[in-house]
Amino acid sequence: MERLNIIASPDDPALARLCTQLAALEEMADDRWPAESLRLCAVAGVYRWFLPVEQGGLAWSEVDLLRAQLKLSAASLATTFILTQATGALKRLSAAGSDELRAEWLPAILSGERFCTLGISHLTTSRRHLAGPALRAEVAGALPQAPEDRGFVLDGLSPWVTGAAHADLVVTGAELSDGRQILVALPTALSGVEVDPPARLVGLSGSDTGAVRLKDVKLAEHYLLAGPMENVMQTASGAKTGGLQTSALAIGLAGRAIEFLEGESARRPELAEPAAGLRREQSLLVSDLLALAVGEEPCRADELRARANSIVLRAAQAALAAAKGTGYVVGHPAGRWCREALFFLVWSCPAPVMAANLCELAGISD
Ligand SMILES: Cc1cc2nc3c(=O)[nH]c(=O)nc-3n(C[C@H](O)[C@H](O)[C@H](O)COP(=O)(O)OP(=O)(O)OC[C@H]3O[C@@H](n4cnc5c(N)ncnc54)[C@H](O)[C@@H]3O)c2cc1C
Repeated sequence: MERLNIIASPDDPALARLCTQLAALEEMADDRWPAESLRLCAVAGVYRWFLPVEQGGLAWSEVDLLRAQLKLSAASLATTFILTQATGALKRLSAAGSDELRAEWLPAILSGERFCTLGISHLTTSRRHLAGPALRAEVAGALPQAPEDRGFVLDGLSPWVTGAAHADLVVTGAELSDGRQILVALPTALSGVEVDPPARLVGLSGSDTGAVRLKDVKLAEHYLLAGPMENVMQTASGAKTGGLQTSALAIGLAGRAIEFLEGESARRPELAEPAAGLRREQSLLVSDLLALAVGEEPCRADELRARANSIVLRAAQAALAAAKGTGYVVGHPAGRWCREALFFLVWSCPAPVMAANLCELAGISD
């Protein structure tokens, strides 16, 4: 393997080299956890992009992060998706953890020695229609307490945790009986934490996504990141959900499928016009994404997401159509892109995005 340098910017040739390696590993991954790809990303300093300089980070701007994520997702969606969950957890730890907690966890996470991930969907988009919370918290012990005894007892489950079986720490949330919520960093080594075997998925099975179950887990206050408060995901610092990166990953994957179509069109002129049309649309999405990241408003973020979902589905299917029956054989990337594109219909889809997806599928325009 080629030696990797720390990547200094999204235009650094070292990022292009990393992407080449990730794409090659992805072809061989066969739906397995991309341990080597993640190791290469850690060595190249990818986790550091997301943290402030005083915490050992490189403090990349949102635009630079999105530009890099466009490239990474075109190379390997599985690895890039896993990174979004790991860096989501890392950012919350960085923004809301105590100095002691950060000192204990950040260096090993940045180096790739330890892995952290996110399990917050039950506070945002999963199981919201059920009567009770998926994960319950109680204040531990009788009040008043000595500081060292303060903490919470957790019971229930976090239904979707990417890379759960590989995680040393899961940033998750729970609800108290009065409706207030807490956001915590949960070490998976604690007694009472159990990880389900990963679900077999339509695509991205290599993300080893599964539920984490908690039975009478005693968590010291030291691990509290935010709360107790109402709607912790909307209010807590470092807890922002959604954002533009989901769209960036969809647009990046679409770009990869279009590149395939462009490659084929060199020998098959009938593919040139659809390839060019998709490329024009994808380029506009890239510029709208980056404009939104600097605070301009070419469109709303949820509109961008709906358009990103639309193009990734169409571009992946166009690549499959161009690859014909050969593309429908397991192992050809066009089939994988189609399965991966479907993920954007269910990943982190708040109600307006879901409504827009369904209107698009029903052929209803607004
Ligand atoms: C591969 C994968 C990886 C993921 N990784 C992560 C991760 O790392 N971290 C994270 O936090 N999240 C993750 N998610 C979660 C994701 O972002 C969404 O939260 C999740 O896809 C929501 O789906 P759900 O089935 O849980 O939704 P739910 O809303 O719970 O729907 C479940 C079922 O309930 C029924 N239902 C839904 N709404 C209603 C209603 N109003 N009334 C009656 N019945 C209803 C439907 O039949 C539906 O099939 C992941 C998801 C996937 C698929």
